Amino acid sequence: MKDDLDSRIQTLAQWLYEARYPVVFTGAGISTASGIPDFRGPDGVWTRRDSGLPPKPMTRSWDSIEPNSGHLAIVELQKLGKLKYLISQNVDNLHLRSGISPDLLAELHGNRNRLRCVRCGDTVDRSEGQTHRGCGGELVPSVVDFGQSLPERDLMLSFEHSRKSDLFVVVGSSLVVTPAADMPKEALRAGAKLVIINQGETPFDGVADLRFHESIGEVLPKTLKRLKKLMGLS
Ligand SMILES: [Zn+2]
Repeated sequence: MKDDLDSRIQTLAQWLYEARYPVVFTGAGISTASGIPDFRGPDGVWTRRDSGLPPKPMTRSWDSIEPNSGHLAIVELQKLGKLKYLISQNVDNLHLRSGISPDLLAELHGNRNRLRCVRCGDTVDRSEGQTHRGCGGELVPSVVDFGQSLPERDLMLSFEHSRKSDLFVVVGSSLVVTPAADMPKEALRAGAKLVIINQGETPFDGVADLRFHESIGEVLPKTLKRLKKLMGLS
């Protein structure tokens, strides 16, 4: 099995090397290695609920949570010019903290550190202490609750970049929450290759061009190493 993982990592590196418009899509699974519980993973909030168990308590406080090797690998993609856009379902702020440019990121479910203007949709960091935006709109928490609609601008940009992508890499999402889960559909329709790195099953497993059931930490850092080699950087 080890050799098989190796050749799949090599394939992903090769595809990233060739890709003209790589888009990455992340879900809770990328942050579990930072100590944040996910939803559908083996120990996820919903998996445990379905078995009548309470959510597993967070092993760390929010203040001590740091981006992990998965987040850092995506930042490296950005540095190599191999990240056209990043779509995330996470609200944990770890992508921005790890150094992803805000221009390249859509946060479909908001961000626990940011407030959103109810009038124009702009977001500002909570730490700025503002209550209203220049436009007069009130600032409210940006995190999207169940049943609430997703931020229009982030959603629109996500669809737009998914349609442009020629390589769509899902990292740590079970792809069951719509409309977020519609992104890989858009990418496939546009002719993109679909890669899924997720420990649990997804509804897209049958149509994925490359599938990793291994942990993100086992896959992404090594992929980046190979990619750099292909680019002549190591
Ligand atoms: Zn505003």
